[in-house]
Amino acid sequence: MGLEVRAISDKHNIKIAIVDLTDGFKEIVKLQKPNMIAATALGKTLANTTLMSLSIKEGDRLNVTINGMGLCGNVVAEFDNNTFRGYIQNPRFNTDDITTEKGDPSALSQAVGTNGFIQVARYTSGNEPYVSRTELITGEINVDFMGYVQQSDQVHTLISSAVDFDDAGNVKKLAGILIQLLPNSSEEDVDFLEEKIGSLDHLNKTLLQSTNYEALIKEICDDAKILASHDNLKFQCTCSLDKVLDSIRMLPSDEIDNIILNGESVEVVCEFCQKKYVVDVEEIKKIKD
Ligand SMILES: [Zn+2]
Repeated sequence: MGLEVRAISDKHNIKIAIVDLTDGFKEIVKLQKPNMIAATALGKTLANTTLMSLSIKEGDRLNVTINGMGLCGNVVAEFDNNTFRGYIQNPRFNTDDITTEKGDPSALSQAVGTNGFIQVARYTSGNEPYVSRTELITGEINVDFMGYVQQSDQVHTLISSAVDFDDAGNVKKLAGILIQLLPNSSEEDVDFLEEKIGSLDHLNKTLLQSTNYEALIKEICDDAKILASHDNLKFQCTCSLDKVLDSIRMLPSDEIDNIILNGESVEVVCEFCQKKYVVDVEEIKKIKD
């Protein structure tokens, strides 16, 4: 199961959260079979979305879409009620299309792209979703998430995730960390956070090597108090036949007429879990009535 550890430091006026989504992410990778670069993009988006979701209310849902017009297409991640899911539009894009001339953006940046936005939609039951977006900065996911939080919430935040692979290219680990300044923070607290942001590579490396996250948090802030520590996070899809029928209902009516005329059943594959739904014409006729 996925781990979540949350802590607070009074000395530095910050809160810290770490998530480890390795198990659920392995399930997702098994279903969608992305190449390593696409898996990195999807994993980082999943972990950062989960970190951002830890402060939402129970029952609320957060949906993050990254649309950078890169080789891997859109990257989507969702979190609610301790469960997460996500998909990448072109999981097996041709990695030969990545250029490696001096000065070229990183492979991850070329896969995600920078010509677009990161959009965050927050769904609270009974209300219209709250949707906001900011432009992508590097297409390397972590900086783009930080840019979003900085611009939309005006809170100094470090948010960073990393994916590790074994020699055979299989996912070994997915973990992420969030460090956020609390209200009433001082200049020194800002400096403390900036210093951590400055050493992100080192922090990610430590995170991937760590197996004791509470100890890691204490290493970052020796006075940190652990507020929560559990292993309830898991991958779970929320698709259903009802939702598939709803999406068919949304089609233009002449398209529905065509389906009925052709007399062929409709196949819908869930992007999140690859489950295949087959809806026969009789069912579609009922939608029409
Ligand atoms: Zn599904």
